[in-house]
Amino acid sequence: MEALVIHAPGDLRVEEFPTDELGPGQLRVRVRCGGICGSDLHYYQHGGFGTVRIQQPMVLGHEVAGVIEAVGEGVTAYAPGERIAVSPSRPCGLCRFCQEGLQNHCLDMRYYGSAMRNPHVQGAFRQQIVVDAYQAHRLADHLTDQEGAMAEPLSVALHGINRAGPLLGKKVLVTGCGPIGALAIIAARRAGAGHIVATDMGAHPLSKALKVGADEVVNIAEEPDGLARFAVDKGQFDVLFEASGNERALRGAFEVLRPRGIIVQLGLSGGEMTLPINAIVAKEFDLRGVFRFHQEFATAVELLNKRLVDVKPLISATVSYRDSARAFALAADRSQAMKVLLSFD
Ligand SMILES: [Zn+2]
Ligand SMILES: [Zn+2]
Repeated sequence: MEALVIHAPGDLRVEEFPTDELGPGQLRVRVRCGGICGSDLHYYQHGGFGTVRIQQPMVLGHEVAGVIEAVGEGVTAYAPGERIAVSPSRPCGLCRFCQEGLQNHCLDMRYYGSAMRNPHVQGAFRQQIVVDAYQAHRLADHLTDQEGAMAEPLSVALHGINRAGPLLGKKVLVTGCGPIGALAIIAARRAGAGHIVATDMGAHPLSKALKVGADEVVNIAEEPDGLARFAVDKGQFDVLFEASGNERALRGAFEVLRPRGIIVQLGLSGGEMTLPINAIVAKEFDLRGVFRFHQEFATAVELLNKRLVDVKPLISATVSYRDSARAFALAADRSQAMKVLLSFD
């Protein structure tokens, strides 16, 4: 079976890759579809992000859906032929954070396609993979494989919502409308946000933001002061979802966030930012990070299965894994693409 293996920046190869033996409690899955994530792009373009670097060849990918080919001994909840989304979150279950229900902070996490640990954890951009049954989440018949693969980034957005706390009736600002920002709009809407304003520098992402439920959008490239009217009375927004990873976007939002506003930082820029700590102190902001997710994956699939969220407007293209250079170039082009998926048929 073949896989997409990153060797160095720009050097992504289709290679034969062995599938693990099917063990007890496991499923052998024929991967059908995988979404290209910002982190996959970082590995492809720069060989990593921040201090995380590729040290050895690694299969990319962690946003996949597929069909079960075989079930291991003791598995009764699943059967061959069923379509599933695969959660790439594989915590140990034993460490102190797993025991506290903070699996995303697991001390022994084996998240797919991540160079954070050494040897790296191989990813899921491959034709076939063996997973633990707990990673499987059944997809409703009406969902496409592509929508199923969107469960992972949707989970990140849902974890951001959980970090923000109750959103019912709240005024929400989303800065940066790439896939995660757009999914944050969908998730915030679902969570009861009263009014959602989204910003970006590009017309294409903003058009998608409107499609998935933003009430208003501001193109900061064309209208740098477009948020000024929200600065009255010490700021209008209750919650900021910052998904651009851009320091200026975050600083600019300080003016329009009300006192005790909650800042949820979703974008993983990998870099450092200089922030006016006096503004955070004087306006009593809560600055909250978001790192991956765990139980939100089940919620994401449930919302998709029940048609309570619609991610289809964010799916830009599906490209064969054999044509990965084209797929990754398209995924990096914000003027025409949101989420690009690879097909492994
Ligand atoms: Zn992802
Ligand atoms: Zn753990």
